[in-house]
Amino acid sequence: MREQRIDLAPDHDLSRVPDGVGGLSRREFLRYCTGVALTLGLAPVAGLRIAEAAGNPARRPSVIWLHGQECTGPTETLLRAEHPRLERLILDMISLDYHETLAAAAGHQVEAAKHAAMEANAGKYLLVVEGSVPTKDGGIYCKIANKPVLQHVQEAAEHAAAIVAFGSCAAWGGVQSAGPNPTGAKGIKDILPGKTVVNIPGCPPNPYNFLATVLHYVTFGTLPALDEGNRPKFAYGRLIHENCERRPHFDAGRFALEFGDEGHRQGWCLYKLGCKGPMTYANCPSILFNDLGAGTWPIGIGHPCFGCVEQGVGFTRGVFQLSDVLTHAPPNAFPPIADRQEHSSATVGAAALIGGAVGVALGAAAMAAKKAKPDAEPSP
Ligand code: SF4
Repeated sequence: MREQRIDLAPDHDLSRVPDGVGGLSRREFLRYCTGVALTLGLAPVAGLRIAEAAGNPARRPSVIWLHGQECTGPTETLLRAEHPRLERLILDMISLDYHETLAAAAGHQVEAAKHAAMEANAGKYLLVVEGSVPTKDGGIYCKIANKPVLQHVQEAAEHAAAIVAFGSCAAWGGVQSAGPNPTGAKGIKDILPGKTVVNIPGCPPNPYNFLATVLHYVTFGTLPALDEGNRPKFAYGRLIHENCERRPHFDAGRFALEFGDEGHRQGWCLYKLGCKGPMTYANCPSILFNDLGAGTWPIGIGHPCFGCVEQGVGFTRGVFQLSDVLTHAPPNAFPPIADRQEHSSATVGAAALIGGAVGVALGAAAMAAKKAKPDAEPSP
């Protein structure tokens, strides 16, 4: 599916926004849709168009949801979404025609239901896959209905209008693909050459990024803009390190050195405990987990980011291995001095020089001093 410009012309009509969608009042539903628009990086007025589309039963997409090698974390995370709850999403925003974990039926009956839904909605349904796909030995390491999941995914992708790989396992293989990768686990993109697959990685992935992607598709008929890893830019465009609440401590050279030490209890930066926030692109610090506004996230509760959304970082780089620092300037003060295409050491070095030249590399200088003299931590 091609990306296209979104027309935000205010042809909205508030009277077309329905009452009581998913058990939400009209006001709550509008507030929710405006939040989705802002998550997508769109103007608040786009929330009205999202509200009109999401509240229109005729525009509910059929969804076929498959599982591969995984822990069911992506479904679990969606079940714990509160705005709206999954059952509301199922009943009022999408038509979930097949889901292995949630289906009441089993065996031949549920397989028949899946095929019937795929035939009835050929070319129109949304295929969502969670879990990696084993490819070694003909894919025999994960079978459903006596058929390798590899075949299930290829078959369902044939007539899908759009494909979403939900979670790190589906996006790039996840933990199963870590060395020595005994099952030859791969992400969905790698087994469907030539198909556009939207990757929404995370372990677990954030349910709001999924909901926002689906609502973008339902409302505008297009996928959101994607980065070079096929991830929606609205969700994976910024470094965690740039939006982290502990960033002022990083810039000031205040680090937790052990779990439970005074710096850890004081909420200082987790860089020296192996935090991968400086090399991980995700909106976790902005939209949080568990519930919008009242939620939390790993770094917020004192656990270093382990880079679960980044291929080659999560499940690959040692948990306590120090992260590469891709940007040195404190956030919100100056334009970014390195972007995600420029990760070479030469570029980072040049960026640091530029930062030093304009006098904003105080954080980098503090870091360098701390690295050179690890015993010189300020006492909490
Ligand atoms: Fe936050 Fe981690 Fe960056 Fe420290 S290193 S500021 S904890 S993202």
